[in-house]
Amino acid sequence: SSLFSAVPLAPRDPILGVTEAYNADTRPTKVNLGVGVYYDENGKLPLLECVRTAEDQLNALHAPRGYLPIDGIALYDQAVQKLLFGAQSPVITGKRAITAEALGGTGGLKIGADLLRRFTPEGTTVYISNPSWENHRAIFEGAGFEVQTYPYYDAATHGVDFDGLLKCLKEARPGSIFVLHACCHNPTGVDLSPEQWTQVLAALQAAGHVPFLDIAYQGFGDGIEEDGAVIRAFAATSLPFFVSSSFSKSFSLYGERVGALTVVLSDADEAARVLSQLKRVIRCNYSNPPTHGAQVVQRVLNDDTLRRQWESELGAMRVRIKAMRKALVAGLAAAGIDRDFSFIERQRGMFSYSGLTADQVEALKVDHGIYAVSSGRICVAALNDKNVETVARAIASVLA
Ligand code: PLP
Repeated sequence: SSLFSAVPLAPRDPILGVTEAYNADTRPTKVNLGVGVYYDENGKLPLLECVRTAEDQLNALHAPRGYLPIDGIALYDQAVQKLLFGAQSPVITGKRAITAEALGGTGGLKIGADLLRRFTPEGTTVYISNPSWENHRAIFEGAGFEVQTYPYYDAATHGVDFDGLLKCLKEARPGSIFVLHACCHNPTGVDLSPEQWTQVLAALQAAGHVPFLDIAYQGFGDGIEEDGAVIRAFAATSLPFFVSSSFSKSFSLYGERVGALTVVLSDADEAARVLSQLKRVIRCNYSNPPTHGAQVVQRVLNDDTLRRQWESELGAMRVRIKAMRKALVAGLAAAGIDRDFSFIERQRGMFSYSGLTADQVEALKVDHGIYAVSSGRICVAALNDKNVETVARAIASVLA
């Protein structure tokens, strides 16, 4: 027997499993609402025009591919900070923020988790929302933390269990790490209001917790500025915090792995020391990040014309998702469903916790070839004018 003869088979990824089953389905009317990507009105993954132009410009340069610095492309890191905080922000001018290019939002979370593990006391707990993007738990447990959940989604109101959340913030051991979705909560689509964020921020400060903001859907909620407001509210305090950025969705650059980790510290000196430690973390993980995706994003963010084009293309994605939320709610009503589904229109971002049970999700799949996550999460960005009525009728029939 070999060293590996007793290795158990790991469980399948629940969401990728949905897509495998969808791919094997031969019904022409099948729809995959289980995905975590934005599809356009033709059900296709878009290549943004701003990306195409930036890539054409880059291609024409035929630039050599040397190693990047450990923290990535400087112009990219600066562009990330300006996007998060605004160009004139005191955290930028005061050099309190450090940013390293990372391999997607996942990479930003991972290097942030590794860094925190090195400098937080043994036994520090990481709190993630209940529910959360499933990789949050895996990433922080993988880095050596104990992970617990804070109350978040309240199925009864399709809103936030805000009292539960505040209570947890107050009762958690001071110095705990709180992973927070800055906008467009995945998987529920339910965000905190600005007033609630103010209270959360005060509770985090009072307890000396470490906030770790995850921003993977900036621009999909109410707008690029609007969706970044939470980050700027944190930056206006003296509280140190972490941010992982992902451009996978907002640039439709999933496979290029473009993200970043930003840490805001107390002063420039502390920031320089933390950056030196972050570089050590990166060095022993993957040494330095890849060139292409960050070069594309940097070009778009730093060029006035491309930037405007990106804002307009991202705006169109946002508007289309909102239109699909509306069409789904209208479709359900038209299919004779009395139940109030208006909460779907109030949710933000690509996802909706639809309220469907695991049995109803199963019936959607078996009877209609419509695939969703067993939690009831559907990707609204997978809906389009051609399939939304079919989906609404199918949901109506499994609810009946
Ligand atoms: N954080 C959240 C909340 C996400 O939903 C995702 C992607 O689904 C990520 C992070 C990771 O993004 P990336 O694909 O850039 O690693």
